[in-house]
Amino acid sequence: MNLARFERRRYTPHPTAIEAMPHLARELGGARLLIKRDDLLGLAGGGNKTRKLEFLVADALAQGADTLITVGAVQSNHCRLTAAAAVREGLKCQLVLEQRVPGSYHADASGNNFLFDLLGVEKIEVVDLGADLAGAMAAMQAALAAQGRRGYIIPGGGSNPLGSLGYVACAEEILQQAFEQSLRIDRIVVASGSAGTHAGLVAGLVGNSAGIPVTGINVRRPRAEQEANVHKLAVEVAAFAGASAPVPRDAIVCRDEWVGPGYSLPTPEMIAAVRLFAATEGVLLDPVYTGKAAAGLIALVRSGEISRDEQVLFLHTGGSPVLYANQGILGATAQAA
Ligand SMILES: *Cc1c(COP(=O)(O)O)cnc(C)c1O
Repeated sequence: MNLARFERRRYTPHPTAIEAMPHLARELGGARLLIKRDDLLGLAGGGNKTRKLEFLVADALAQGADTLITVGAVQSNHCRLTAAAAVREGLKCQLVLEQRVPGSYHADASGNNFLFDLLGVEKIEVVDLGADLAGAMAAMQAALAAQGRRGYIIPGGGSNPLGSLGYVACAEEILQQAFEQSLRIDRIVVASGSAGTHAGLVAGLVGNSAGIPVTGINVRRPRAEQEANVHKLAVEVAAFAGASAPVPRDAIVCRDEWVGPGYSLPTPEMIAAVRLFAATEGVLLDPVYTGKAAAGLIALVRSGEISRDEQVLFLHTGGSPVLYANQGILGATAQAA
């Protein structure tokens, strides 16, 4: 696929590393494990949204926008990175924050919440779960227009076909690295949320006839619903990127056994995974996405569903700033209690 046809800003001047995780693999007694460090992408504490924003912000600039408007959970990495991209480009940023857990927004909370302030977010509107998010963003855009300004709306997670191109690009980057480093990759495991990462990755792999299956680990929705969402977006992304064939339905696999009680709510498996990655590989995960995805990876390796001779690439999508708002849940004293 020829991504050079699309305008793109660059927020990471190099590919992210693929590293081995030998200590974790030994601990689990199973498959060989690799990790792609998309937690080290550019902008402020980069993660997967950085790749999506390269395409989305290029479009905002092409349209003459002066303000980025987006939406996310109260500790959203996407909102933090959108705010950082706005600063980088000399734009303003306004956010709609959705309280997916009632009462979870605190203006003075740590983690991303604090970083929204540090990154100079111009306006924050907090709404409850189930509110009309598109409507809230449209109202922000209209208020800006009334002042002669121009707001560009980025959907939640940056997960439209344009933003998802970031993960088509990532798929191509992985294939190039595998070729250069003579790496066999038998499977990729990734967190599956607003779906753009999972959908873009599959569209890119299928579009390049890579023959590498992707196992998505859900962080919010039940399996059937998430697979339908990811497949719909993957088909759209593939067509948008100019792929010659559609993404088959069976290329989309989402597992929901590690969601727990709900989005962002802790599980014992998530806590164990965050602590194990830190203790064995010095890698910081996050409690909402990568902690649950890693819990899935660990369980699939331990159960033998991912076999001993597979070489698996875990895509680290970022999010560690949220750790600092969750010390009470993840810390050793909380564990002992
Ligand atoms: C947003 C996010 C995800 C999920 O990516 P989607 O494209 O929304 O599915 C995974 N990990 C982290 C750290 C995120 O912030």
